[in-house]
Amino acid sequence: MLHRTNPVSHIQDKIETVYPFPPKPAPLTEEQKQTHIANIKRLLKEQDAVLIAHYYTDPEIQALAEETGGFVGDSLEMAKFGNRHPAKTLLIAGVRFMGESAKILTPEKRILMPTLEAECSLDLGCPADEFTTFCDAHPDHTVVVYANTSAAVKARADWVVTSSIALDIVEHLDSLEKPIIWGPDRHLGSYIANKTGAEMLLWHGECVVHDEFSADALRKMKSVYPEAAILVHPESPASVVELADAVGSTSQLIKAAKTLPNKQLIVATDKGIFYKMQQLVPEKELIEAPTAGAGATCRSCAHCPWMAMNGLSAIEQSLTEGGEKHEVFVDDNVRVKSLIPLNRMLDFAEQLQS
Ligand code: SF4
Repeated sequence: MLHRTNPVSHIQDKIETVYPFPPKPAPLTEEQKQTHIANIKRLLKEQDAVLIAHYYTDPEIQALAEETGGFVGDSLEMAKFGNRHPAKTLLIAGVRFMGESAKILTPEKRILMPTLEAECSLDLGCPADEFTTFCDAHPDHTVVVYANTSAAVKARADWVVTSSIALDIVEHLDSLEKPIIWGPDRHLGSYIANKTGAEMLLWHGECVVHDEFSADALRKMKSVYPEAAILVHPESPASVVELADAVGSTSQLIKAAKTLPNKQLIVATDKGIFYKMQQLVPEKELIEAPTAGAGATCRSCAHCPWMAMNGLSAIEQSLTEGGEKHEVFVDDNVRVKSLIPLNRMLDFAEQLQS
């Protein structure tokens, strides 16, 4: 196994200084919430729209998606749901790359987002021009990019993957003896390289939420809850993954919560996941895994600051205002190119299931 990283460093510093975290949405009173919810329900019907929310959005957004016939899932499941749902408008509560993926897959639909300013540190840390230069320097490599990238980066890739299918796709490519360029999450890339033994060149990106989980603090927590199982998303550092009883994507962790016999679960991923996880295992105690504490650079405390921008007020605004603040557009040339690796993943996922 070859396991190297690209020369880009200090991505975290760059994200902190160039892309400061957004302010948290203003808190709403219960009455304001109920008014927004009623308005959103009416507008969804009037506009033949469906709300599709990621597991990391706030619980009230996930509940609203479920209540209105929408969907809650990981980014692969969100894309698949949007693809097959007949609604003319898809309202994507998540971060920008998820809205872009929906537009790439269903260009005939109107794709709305509560805000187009909901970023992702992985996407921000992988600019298309720098990534293209990196790929061009290794023309014999198959380029595999995580879904958490811009449409332009996807357009440069041979494969798009999500965390739920990345291992299977890299195993497949490795069986064909293809060396791989992996971008942008270095922790997930390392995890997959170690699991598969594949030859991978890694881009040096990271998720600001998962990168902050701390192995030392987790060990201390485990000593307080010795019977608890530890569930870890592989965007976390290797030292944290090593302590896990289950490692996987959001959907895989939710399934693990059910199948593991433990009554207490320490969960190292964005705490938005607790909503669906607790629905599935109401009898179990879910415990937030600790981050690095006072010294941590992450200011989100295990909750993605960009996912938190998907508030009720912004959702209602997207339906009343639409337009350039809320509607997702993707350049046609980029869209056509990025559709190829995205469809490759979806076809591969279908074959896996059949
Ligand atoms: S939790 Fe991390 S990977 Fe997910 S959207 Fe936020 S910054 Fe990106």
